[in-house]
Amino acid sequence: MTHLVDGRTIAVTMATAAAAAADVLRSRGITPTLAVLVPTDDAGAAWYVRSIQRSAARTGVACQVHRMGGPLRSEQIAGRLAELSLDPAVHGVICQTPLPAGVDLPSVGGVIPVGKDVDGANPASLGGLAAGFPAVFAPATAAAVLAILRHERIPLSGRRAVVVGRSTVVGKPAALLLLAEHATVTIAHSRTQDLRAVCREAEVLVVAAGQPKLIGAEHIRPAAVVIDVGTSPTDGGKLVGDVDAAAVTGIASVLTPVPGGVGPVTTAVLMQHVLQAAARAATSS
Ligand code: NAP
Repeated sequence: MTHLVDGRTIAVTMATAAAAAADVLRSRGITPTLAVLVPTDDAGAAWYVRSIQRSAARTGVACQVHRMGGPLRSEQIAGRLAELSLDPAVHGVICQTPLPAGVDLPSVGGVIPVGKDVDGANPASLGGLAAGFPAVFAPATAAAVLAILRHERIPLSGRRAVVVGRSTVVGKPAALLLLAEHATVTIAHSRTQDLRAVCREAEVLVVAAGQPKLIGAEHIRPAAVVIDVGTSPTDGGKLVGDVDAAAVTGIASVLTPVPGGVGPVTTAVLMQHVLQAAARAATSS
């Protein structure tokens, strides 16, 4: 039997705990605040920003949304991120993707100080993660993968984990987080030879490729735990993951659905990060 993870319920549980932490901060006169810079009018980004706002409202985090219009250069986006980062009332800063053509996240995210980099956009945060620094934030999606595995009480130490995808926002940080939990980690990507055989080694399989139905029954080791991070829009306006859920049901022991798996947990993790950043800032001031 395959247990389908309920990401929405996990997110509600996390939001309840986060709201209590936010109350404590507010009682000390601190309003935990997230600033979201939105540099395009992309419809998917607008949808995601609304879900961040809903999650912030549930948690008691103040969420500022700063939109920038027109053709934008890297320096303009980086300049605005730097301004937002300098505001002492702002505890976390994120730059919503996609970015305008010719702009890449590591170069603009590099201006967000690591302490306020709640979605791990600064390459220094990824470096800190690789070095095992406890005070850096992983990108929220990668951290959500670990939050789900923790919630489902999946043992990781000594187990074989495979991550499909090596982006700096999901694949690499997810692999680093699994490694920090003492899993034996393989990262697969578009040049990997015999993806099926590599995936079949996985007791824990994390897929973040953005390729619908990339993973089928033949990729799954019996009883594997499968975390599907992929989200691709369909012609009908829905979202599908990278895993053929119908095909792997009955083989995997645990599966995250799309939608309703990693996505809701991602925004809940983001709020946790803002609260941690606010609490740390209060301690250090
Ligand atoms: P990305 O930057 O496009 O990276 C995709 C990765 O998948 C690359 O490393 C690529 O390999 C690899 N890949 C592509 N096709 C492959 C194939 N046929 N076989 C093996 N590997 C393949 O995407 P991303 O930003 O990491 O996002 C990945 C997915 O997660 C997307 O669907 C995205 O929408 C979703 N996502 C979901 C959330 C959430 O909250 N649920 C958040 C962020 C992203 P190469 O490096 O060799 O090109």
